[in-house]
Amino acid sequence: PIVDFACGTAAENSPMSEIDRRLDRPKSPLTTLKLECPFTVYYQPIVCLKSGSVIGFEALVRWLHPERGLVSPMEFIAMAEETGLITPLGLWVLNESCRQIIKWQSLNLSVGNSPLTVAVNLSGRQFAEPESIEQIKQVLLETGVDARCLKLEITESVVMEDGEAAAAMLSHLRDLGIGLCIDDFGTGYSSLSYLHKFPINILKVDRSFVSRIGERGENLEIVRAIVMLARSLGMEVVAEGVETATQLAQMRAIGCEYGQGYFFSKPLDSEAATALLRRSPKW
Ligand code: C2E
Ligand code: CA
Ligand code: CA
Ligand code: CA
Repeated sequence: PIVDFACGTAAENSPMSEIDRRLDRPKSPLTTLKLECPFTVYYQPIVCLKSGSVIGFEALVRWLHPERGLVSPMEFIAMAEETGLITPLGLWVLNESCRQIIKWQSLNLSVGNSPLTVAVNLSGRQFAEPESIEQIKQVLLETGVDARCLKLEITESVVMEDGEAAAAMLSHLRDLGIGLCIDDFGTGYSSLSYLHKFPINILKVDRSFVSRIGERGENLEIVRAIVMLARSLGMEVVAEGVETATQLAQMRAIGCEYGQGYFFSKPLDSEAATALLRRSPKW
């Protein structure tokens, strides 16, 4: 019910038909693998560590495979990047997420005074395409979503690739009122000096630091340093991969603003995410 196209049949406007068109061929590699491949979006809660409440979700795409069930994006995002499928797919995920925001708003399931936000991943390819700005604008317009309810996550390495183009792209998105997050922060081996040049709101510390705090003491110190750096730049931090109560306590102790990870919840389908909002759990 969630999916309104089947790319296996190359429905008009589906990501698959789009990629077929671009590559000027009758069948895409995914279709020739006979994958009837509608996608679905899962939502993983992001928790405010001060209040302990859910403030929003990250949208994570899954592939509904007829035999294999839910396929993780780890298995197809790289291929989707290579083939260019990621552009229409990413746009579809954005559209789904925006429609979900409207559903939650209409059920009055926003949280407290601040609006519920959904963070959507923007691929390197989408980020490099100037048309993405218009497309994102269009989705906001068509779904009626307030840009302040949307966040976009861009990985550190993508932003670092072409600093000037990235700065321009980020400013455009920022001007629309969309929140901007640097994803997988700490894995890009980049100089930190670039950070203040970009209109970034949130750093998402990669889970490799957070979930391995127990193994290596310096990981906690790294996260602490990132939180301090972010603060001095007027940014906030999301700790990804919070898996234990101890890690949650440590993230709170160093003043990290938000947490995400299996300790709170795995990514959920839209129904389960809605049920979670209704319960409004406190951590
Ligand atoms: P990501 O953006 O870093 O997303 C977080 C990943 O960490 C998700 O994996 C999530 O399920 C997983 N995760 C969350 N909490 C924990 C935890 O406590 N422990 C562990 N071990 N893992 C945790 P997922 O859903 O498999 O997604 C993998 C990657 O695929 C994402 O990493 C993102 O880079 C990419 N991806 C997912 N959806 C999209 C999308 O719509 N567009 C694009 N471009 N990329 C996407
Ligand atoms: Ca992400
Ligand atoms: Ca991440
Ligand atoms: Ca990641």
